[in-house]
Parts: sequence; structure tokens; C-alpha cells
Amino acid sequence: MKTNITKIALVTGGSRGLGKDIALNLAARGNDVIITYNSRKDEALSVLAAIEQTGQRATALQLNTGDTKSFDTFYATLLTSLKNRFQSERFDFLINNAGHGITVPSLAATTEEQFDELVNVHLKGVFFLTQKALPYISDGGAIVNISSGLTRFTNPGSGAYASVKSGVETLTKYIAKELGQRYIRANVVAPGAIATDFNGSRLRETPQVQEHIKAITALPRIGQADDIGSVVAFLCSNDAKWINGQRIEVAGGMYL
Ligand code: NAD
Repeated sequence: MKTNITKIALVTGGSRGLGKDIALNLAARGNDVIITYNSRKDEALSVLAAIEQTGQRATALQLNTGDTKSFDTFYATLLTSLKNRFQSERFDFLINNAGHGITVPSLAATTEEQFDELVNVHLKGVFFLTQKALPYISDGGAIVNISSGLTRFTNPGSGAYASVKSGVETLTKYIAKELGQRYIRANVVAPGAIATDFNGSRLRETPQVQEHIKAITALPRIGQADDIGSVVAFLCSNDAKWINGQRIEVAGGMYL
């Protein structure tokens, strides 16, 4: 049913931060983009406008990645959108990016509710959103899961978050292995500390935190959202056609 060679990407959490930059990079390279937002539809609408300025088609759908029970309804809505807006029944790239962190000082201060929330949003959500994408994702497509530099180095209070992201990295290898038969590739992008809403005002406004990050990073600056999107777009592209099951850290050389 697809009428041209334009590829279609689904970017979860594409309404701001890294997801917004990923969506705009994919659009700049000629892909149509479906973004999801959790609660801020206004943010999603402004990203849609920016994508459409590139000449690509775009749409925004609501999704809570922590609510797996909503995924069948989400994909039913997505299919309607694909048919009506993109004249297709498939999409080509799935970017599992959505998520939020928790702020706690230590393992001891982490509650079971916080742990469950992280597992639900970042790991169970990625697992089942990917599983339920299988009928809709094109053979030859690509999946990029956003992990974290914190799976390689430690940071006080990030034990639960980093453990969950490690699960995403392991899951990605299994996705790559199983979907390889369909020539669907799966890779991980692991960002370092990036100045987005994810880190609240900590990275953007606290000089001591900024100085610490610069001191432990070979390239002595703070990572920005626009450091990430081009790498994800590359991994989706044909230029990366032989990269599969890999983790790419995008952190300016943190803790080398
Ligand atoms: P952000 O807060 O700027 O954006 C998060 C996006 O995810 C938003 O679009 C939001 O609507 C969506 N989202 C949040 N919770 C959701 C939920 N439960 N269901 C669906 N959507 C939800 O954060 P960001 O920095 O752009 O983070 C994006 C991804 O990058 C996350 O997976 C995060 O763990 C990862 N990451 C961020 C950093 C960093 O320093 N910013 C570093 C490493 C990894």
C-alpha cells in the first residue's frame, strides 16, 4: 500500500528533549515521523510544526510507555494514522526513547514504587511496545533503543535507573538476533549527561555540576540534545546497514 520510498519513523517521547532532536534529524534526512507525547500535547504540536517545515509529514499520538495495557489501543490508533496520513500500513523505524528519571541520593533512598515505575516505563514498556510493533514494522527496518552512559559508569542515586537501562541494552541484543531474519536491525544509543528537562535545572543552571561534568569528559562541555539525534538517524539509515546489536555511547568521552 506504500506509494513511495519515504520511510516512516515512530519516535516515543518525540515531543521534547532528545526525542525532539531525533525526530527533527530523521525528518531532515527525508523521513516522515510519528512522535508520541505523554501529557504535554502543546510540546508535541510545536515539534509537528517544525517537522512539517522540513517538508516531511508528521503526526503526534499520546502514549504512556508505563501503561502496557494501552498498547493494543495505541497500535490500533497508529494503524489508522498510518493509513490516513501516510498511505501506509507499516512503519520503518522504532525509536524507544521516552522516559523520565528519578531523583534519589542512594540505593537506600530508592523506594519500591520508584523502582517499579522505572521498570514499567523504561524496560517493560520498551519490551512490549517493540513486541507489539512486530506486525507493523517493515522488514529491513531499524530499532534504536535509548539507554544511558550510566550502564557503564556509576553516579550516586542512579542504581535503579541504570539497572533498568542495562536491561534495555541486553534486550536490544535479543531483538537484533531474533529480528535479523527479517533484516530488522536493533542498536542502542547511550547518551551521557545531556541538558534536557530530564535533568531538571541541575545541568543547565548549577555551576558545580557543570564543572564536574566537564572535568570527567574528554570534550569539556555539557552534552546537548542535538548531540544525539544525528547518531540515531545514522543508525536508521542505510549507511549503518551492517551495524546490528551494538551499543554506541554518545557522551563526548566521559570517564575515558
Ligand atoms: P525529556 O524529559 O526532555 O523528554 C522525555 C520525553 O519522554 C518527553 O517527550 C516525555 O513526554 C516522554 N515521557 C516521559 N515519561 C513518559 C512516559 N511514562 N510515557 C511516555 N512518554 C514519556 O528527557 P530526555 O533527556 O529527552 O530523555 C529521553 C531519553 O533519554 C530517556 O529514555 C532518558 O532515560 C534517556 N537519557 C537521557 C539523558 C540525559 O541526560 N538527558 C542521558 C541518558 C539517557
